Amino acid sequence: MARALQLAEQGLYSTSPNPRVGCVITRDNSLAGENLTGESVIGEGFHRAAGEDHAEIVALKAAVEPVAGATVYVTLEPCAHKGRTGPCAEALIHAGIQRVVYGMEDPNPLVAGKGLNMLREAGIDVVGPIMEDSARALNPGFIKRMTQGLPFVRCKLAMSLDGRTAMADGKSQWITGPAARADVQQLRARSCAIVTGVETVIHDNPLLNVRLPQVERQPQRIILDSKLRTPAQSEIFSTGEKVIIAHTQTSSSIAIANAELWQCGAQNGRVDLRALLKKLVAEQQSNEVMIEAGAVLNGAFLAAGLVDEIVVYMAAKLMGREARPLFDLSIHTMAAQLALNIKDVRAVGDDWRITAEPDIES
Ligand SMILES: [Zn+2]
Repeated sequence: MARALQLAEQGLYSTSPNPRVGCVITRDNSLAGENLTGESVIGEGFHRAAGEDHAEIVALKAAVEPVAGATVYVTLEPCAHKGRTGPCAEALIHAGIQRVVYGMEDPNPLVAGKGLNMLREAGIDVVGPIMEDSARALNPGFIKRMTQGLPFVRCKLAMSLDGRTAMADGKSQWITGPAARADVQQLRARSCAIVTGVETVIHDNPLLNVRLPQVERQPQRIILDSKLRTPAQSEIFSTGEKVIIAHTQTSSSIAIANAELWQCGAQNGRVDLRALLKKLVAEQQSNEVMIEAGAVLNGAFLAAGLVDEIVVYMAAKLMGREARPLFDLSIHTMAAQLALNIKDVRAVGDDWRITAEPDIES
């Protein structure tokens, strides 16, 4: 299963909207009557992209010997529905697989267990869930979309040691070093969408695209701009890919090359964030969304309870009291503080990366 999880990770940047899935087929040597113990791998694979073979099919096709009687390790319950490919459960039955070990059930409550039942009814020995935490960690966005109809939202921030993220004039670029910026590229590459605010576009003029040679899929970039103030000459439009501008105006007359306007519902005069995330799920099947914005927008997502993960890059610098805080939140008492659980802290070049999640118990 550990090998299957490793394989699944190879689809980190390319499978969406589908989940990342890995599969390993093994033969039990002791059952084969050979003078060997343990299992040997006879086929393996991972799901690469939507429309292509699922991991189970890739592994079956890659098998170097007949798979009848073999064991299949797969990180996610084999599908039972006829999608663009599959169903994989049927393929495993036809191949004569004897045992299926799975990492986690299908997170979609409407189909969960159907693939496993199909296998059991065909007389296959079904074992699992095995290494479920790791299996779930592969697909936080797919799981959240299937269970809650919302994407997994990750706020990426850069700050100084004194917790400041932008100077008083709004400038925030290059707080952290090259290693941290390279790390952010990987977070972008695994995201379906990158959300920013018009203030960030005006002050930092970022591209917000993925600049990794091995990555083909670019995340959808979205500017939250309720009053349509985005300058048409902004760098973000220069890559040639479509950028969505989410606004709340009733009539919109601006036309920007490569921009698509989304008229959204308003909440307190700003784009309704929950409605926007639901629209991203409905229209683009977004699994993971990353917020790369200033304190106001980050604070608004956090205050709305829409944030699943916070990734803070901390530079060993002091930016002083006039600089802006990480989240623009109005908190006045100790009792009102927002608690976080830190999941990981590590050095990235000269900076530190802190990964945390809101403590929903508090
Ligand atoms: Zn499948």
